[in-house]
Amino acid sequence: MNRNFEHFGLGHVNPPISDSAMYEFESGVEMTEMFEVGIPGRYLYGRHLSPSNHLLAQELAKLEGTESACVMATGMGAITCAIMQICSAGDEIIASRTVYGGTYALLANLMPKFGLTTSFVNMNDLDEVKRNITPMTKVLYCETLSNPLLACPDLASLVALCKEQNIKLIVDNTFTPLIVQPHSIGADIVVHSLTKYINGMGDHLGGAVCASNDFISSLLDVNTGTSMLLGPTMDAQISASIRKNLQTLPVRMKQHSQNASAVTIALQSSGFSVVYPGIASHPDHRRFMAMADPHYGFGGVFTLDCGTREVADKLMQELVKEDVGHLAVSLGFVQTLFSMPACSTSSEIPEAERKRMGLSTGCVRFSIGVEPDSEALATKIVGIAKKIISR
Ligand SMILES: *Cc1c(COP(=O)(O)O)cnc(C)c1O
Repeated sequence: MNRNFEHFGLGHVNPPISDSAMYEFESGVEMTEMFEVGIPGRYLYGRHLSPSNHLLAQELAKLEGTESACVMATGMGAITCAIMQICSAGDEIIASRTVYGGTYALLANLMPKFGLTTSFVNMNDLDEVKRNITPMTKVLYCETLSNPLLACPDLASLVALCKEQNIKLIVDNTFTPLIVQPHSIGADIVVHSLTKYINGMGDHLGGAVCASNDFISSLLDVNTGTSMLLGPTMDAQISASIRKNLQTLPVRMKQHSQNASAVTIALQSSGFSVVYPGIASHPDHRRFMAMADPHYGFGGVFTLDCGTREVADKLMQELVKEDVGHLAVSLGFVQTLFSMPACSTSSEIPEAERKRMGLSTGCVRFSIGVEPDSEALATKIVGIAKKIISR
């Protein structure tokens, strides 16, 4: 437990929420010192750092095994700050073709306006990655499990390549907190959308960058830091709320994985086409298993191919009617969610590109919740699938 918080003297079991946008100093000299070099344990202004945000960031650094971390108002805020801190106009990024739709749109459409270009590759094809490296390549960007196809890149090989070429490896670990620790494999920077599993309650947005002390300090630099100057600051009330939910992440993660495993095994043995890294037929199953902490399983996300968009829509409507969950985007919520990624979260990806990566329009992505009875959930979902999808 973290007891190094000055207000713990009052006996709170949860740290008080910092209700201050700015923090006072005893003298001009002290304030100058804070501006120039910082004073450990002291705060300046909420956009720079607040005690509540600092506390959540420290917990997230622990989670990812990094020296330090910084929280932002959203996952996209965290991704943008990390990339823009490293890159200048003229630099290049290599990213996985299957990244989250928002990240894809940021890299493909917005960053080029500022002189940053991205080559999209198949991260599982090391030769293709190598072919795209130029002297201007500064960042390699991928996700531990890609969204929504759940491909799992060979992180150890990517780490070796990046070290050799002096490229920073950024890994988005949103799908697999606790399951995979990309930094322990050698990734320089780990980013998260806290909106998903880490908060888990579907009520708040949040993001984080986990990295070395030096990198996190650079994000907060009053003259050149992206977090400080772009201002995607998380509100202290929200970081306190997310920190409380983080405490149940281990039990939630285990139940998400246990449920998804039961449901996908049942669907597959009934002849349905499912993609889940926990299933032996998944092309990256062994690689994922080698990286993952077996204690937490394979995560809560899987896809089911319904063939066509019409059947997928019918299935989702039946799932809603039968009270299995919500037809909504996002993932990592304590309740089950489902959506059609080709027409929603991955719709930013052009159709030709979607075809190339194997994303069918009849694909339904499930984010299984923490329902207590895995077998009952599996039986219910298989029953609905049998009724709607012809095999
Ligand atoms: C949702 C998501 C993001 C974006 O996070 P926000 O909190 O919505 O800004 C980034 N990466 C992945 C993998 C996501 O699922």
